[in-house]
Amino acid sequence: MTLTAAETESLARITTFAQQVIAPNAPDWAGAPAIFEQAAALGLTGIEVPAADGGRGQSYALKAAACEALAAADFGFAMSVVNTHNVAHKLSQCAPPAVKSKYLPALLDGRQTACTALTEKTSGSDFAAIEMRAHKVEGGWRLEGEKRWIINARHASLAIVYAQCAQIGDSRGIGAFVVDLTAPECTRFAQDSEIAQVSTGTGGFALNGVVVPDDHLLLTPGQAFKSILTEINGARTYVAAMCCGMLDAALETVSAYGQTRQSFGKPLAAHQGWRLPVARAETDLAAARALVAAATAQFSSGADAQLLSAQAKIHAVTTCQTHLPHLLHAMGAEGLRPEYPFIRHLGAAQIAGLADGSTEMLLERVAKIARPAPVK
Ligand SMILES: Cc1cc2nc3c(=O)[nH]c(=O)nc-3n(C[C@H](O)[C@H](O)[C@H](O)COP(=O)(O)OP(=O)(O)OC[C@H]3O[C@@H](n4cnc5c(N)ncnc54)[C@H](O)[C@@H]3O)c2cc1C
Repeated sequence: MTLTAAETESLARITTFAQQVIAPNAPDWAGAPAIFEQAAALGLTGIEVPAADGGRGQSYALKAAACEALAAADFGFAMSVVNTHNVAHKLSQCAPPAVKSKYLPALLDGRQTACTALTEKTSGSDFAAIEMRAHKVEGGWRLEGEKRWIINARHASLAIVYAQCAQIGDSRGIGAFVVDLTAPECTRFAQDSEIAQVSTGTGGFALNGVVVPDDHLLLTPGQAFKSILTEINGARTYVAAMCCGMLDAALETVSAYGQTRQSFGKPLAAHQGWRLPVARAETDLAAARALVAAATAQFSSGADAQLLSAQAKIHAVTTCQTHLPHLLHAMGAEGLRPEYPFIRHLGAAQIAGLADGSTEMLLERVAKIARPAPVK
C-alpha cells in the first residue's frame, strides 16, 4: 500500500517528531500537554478524519506507518495518540453534526484526549459479557458501571463507552455512547504497573448514573458489536506495525552498539556468535513487515481483513516478544540503561499481546477462518 507524496512528507515529519521529541521524553514521561498539541499540529489526531470535519483526510496506510514510527520511540505514546485519533474518526463517521462540533475541535487540536472503553473487571476477551448498563430515560440514557485498563482514561475528557442496553451476554444489546468524562457522576483511577507505561495514560473510571442525551448514542444496539468486529482489524494491524517499529528500533540500537563495543580485541559485530541472534531478528522482522503490508492493503481496500490482521498481529507480537530479550542480551549490561528502549519495548510487547485481542483469541480466529470446515 503506497502513500501519496503528501503522506510521505507527513510521515517524514512524524518520524522526526518521534525521534526528536518523543524518544527523549520516553524514559521519564511527564505527559506534558504541549506534546499532545505538537502531535495534533502534525495531524496525528486527524489523519483519517475528513477535511470537511477539520481533519487531514489521509489514509489508513499513513496511520499504520505513523504508528510504527511513533512506537519505535515509545509504544505508550503511540497508543495514546492513536486512541484519541480513533475517537475523533468515529465521531466524524457516526455522530450527528451537533455532537461533532461539540467535541471534535478539541480532539483535533490536541487540547483534549479521548478513549474507547470496552474492558471491565469481569470481561476482557469476552466482550459480549460486559456489565456496564445503559438504561433508557426521558431524553437520553443513564449509564452505570465501571471500565478498567483503558488507554488515556487517566486524562481523557471524552470516551466512547460500550454498554449493555438489554440482557447481559446479549451481544446485540450492546450500544456505544459518547460520554463526557468530566461529568460529576464520573470517578476515575489510574492503573500503574512497571509494564503499563505512564505514557499510555492507562486507567479506569466508574460511571455512577451519568445521563447522556439521545444524540450521544453513537452506535445503536445491533450496530455496535458489528462495528467493533470490523474496526478492530485496523487496530490489530497498526499494533502489529507498532511491534515492527519497536523491533526495528532495537535492531538499529544493537547494530550500532555492536560496531563500537570491543571484546577480545574486535567489535562485538565481528564475532559470528554475536551476529546470529541479530540476523534471526532481522529475518523475522522482514516477515512481520510483509504481513503488516498485506493486512494494511486488505483493510484499506474495505475487504474482510479478519484473517490477515490476526496473522499480522500474532506474528509481529510474537516476533517482538521472542527477539527483544535476545537483542537486550546482545547489549550486555549496557542494554538495561533507561536511555535505551529495550526494557520499555519489552513491557510494551507484553501489552501488545493483550490489547485489541490477545494472541490466544487471535489464534482462535485464525483456526476458525483460515480453513473452514466443509459444510456437510
Ligand atoms: C496497557 C493496557 C491498555 C489497554 N487499553 C484498553 C483500551 O483502551 N480499551 C479497552 O477496552 N481495553 C483495553 N485493554 C484491555 C485489553 O483489551 C484486555 O486486556 C484484553 O482484551 C484481554 O482481556 P483480559 O485482560 O481481561 O484477560 P482475560 O480475558 O481474562 O484473559 C486472560 C488470559 O486468558 C486467555 N484467554 C481468555 N479467553 C481464552 C480462550 N477462550 N481461549 C484461550 N485463552 C483465553 C487470554 O488470552 C489471556 O492470556 C488494555 C489492556 C492493557 C494491558
